[in-house]
Amino acid sequence: MNDFHPRIAQFERVVFFTGAGMSAESGVPTYRGTGGVWKEYDYEAYACQPAFDADPAKVWEFHNFRRRLVGACAPNPGHTLLARIERLLPQVTVVTQNIDGLHQLAGSRRVLELHGSLWRVRCAGCGQRHAGRDVPFADLHCADCGGWWRPDIVWFGDALRADVIRDAVEAIADCDLLVAIGTSAVVYPAAALPLEARRAGATLVEINPEPTPLSDAYDVSLRGTATEMLERMCEGLALN
Ligand code: NAD
Ligand code: ZN
Repeated sequence: MNDFHPRIAQFERVVFFTGAGMSAESGVPTYRGTGGVWKEYDYEAYACQPAFDADPAKVWEFHNFRRRLVGACAPNPGHTLLARIERLLPQVTVVTQNIDGLHQLAGSRRVLELHGSLWRVRCAGCGQRHAGRDVPFADLHCADCGGWWRPDIVWFGDALRADVIRDAVEAIADCDLLVAIGTSAVVYPAAALPLEARRAGATLVEINPEPTPLSDAYDVSLRGTATEMLERMCEGLALN
């Protein structure tokens, strides 16, 4: 580990690129690594369009289980720090792979959800969306076209939303600091996005207790939890 300790106060345009590790301290299970409960489930059997087409009720049951898990979790101090930083700096964007909605609950306003949200549904027929913690409705079919409501999540085999990717690339290419937090950096195309910040000449920081395949691409890797390392990066920032 090197001695370089970047402080957020030295930067103006910051992107926080977050993964499941960001929510680990809230009790949301990560996908891999210690406590990765999805290992217990044949995740891909429940999170892809063919599974939904074959048995929508089964796929909904799984997602409602995930909602119950996530719904019982609250934002952690790391989420709250990001929301507070957003109020202090000229430009802060959260680009997240998480679908738990905890950044928004903590008060972050500019959040780009690369993999969708557990709290939004989309009609598989006409594409309209509804958001809210009470979705889906008792009626699982769209009143307009009769199609199924499905979770508005990027499942295995789904394409990422072009508008979200465009906004994320724009923010990343225009930042002077990118902080990747709690992502294993193995799921593409999201994994490579942070590296776009290089083109902007930004400083790249990784926060993760474990090394990742992309660790070497960062200027510094802070080996610790999201909250602990973010607190260190906030030294010198007038947070109150
Ligand atoms: P991940 O579970 O792959 O990685 C989590 C990372 O967080 C790990 O590198 C871990 O070391 C780190 N971490 C753990 N606790 C931490 C803490 N307290 N603070 C900081 N870091 C901590 O999650 P990911 O990188 O977000 O996964 C990427 C995407 O993979 C997800 O968004 C999801 O869409 C997709 N996905 C993968 C699977 C699967 O592999 N089975 C299943 C579903 C979805
Ligand atoms: Zn419809």
